Amino acid sequence: MIETHCLCGTVALKITAEPLAQVYCHCSDCQISQAAAYVLNSVYPADAVQITSGEPIAMTVNGTPRLRCPACATPLFTEVASAGLRSLNAYLLPEGTFTPQMHLHCADAVLPVIDALPHYARLPLSFGGSDELVDW
Ligand SMILES: [Zn+2]
Ligand SMILES: [Zn+2]
Repeated sequence: MIETHCLCGTVALKITAEPLAQVYCHCSDCQISQAAAYVLNSVYPADAVQITSGEPIAMTVNGTPRLRCPACATPLFTEVASAGLRSLNAYLLPEGTFTPQMHLHCADAVLPVIDALPHYARLPLSFGGSDELVDW
């Protein structure tokens, strides 16, 4: 079990399961909504990411609610309701607990990130994608 909170402490979260996946996401929604080249996501069953204090606000991008602290705007998690998942901002995890397995949506990447992980153009088969890779 992990307890964490936004930068200002208004919203606290409790994580009660191991992540189903940990990924770097390069999709344009993540880039624009978080003003980042790519983001770090730790994905859990929705009921394993619980809000223990505060009331996040949902900013909906292309139909997907992205929850933030109403006071400091720290991104908290994305509600992937169709899959019953919550995708946590992995910067909220304790140091050493983010061990990414892959890069997603590399077709949108603004800069290649060269490492030994698989670089999917969109999504792997196991996430409902095509498994297509980019060549960087
Ligand atoms: Zn906050
Ligand atoms: Zn994304």
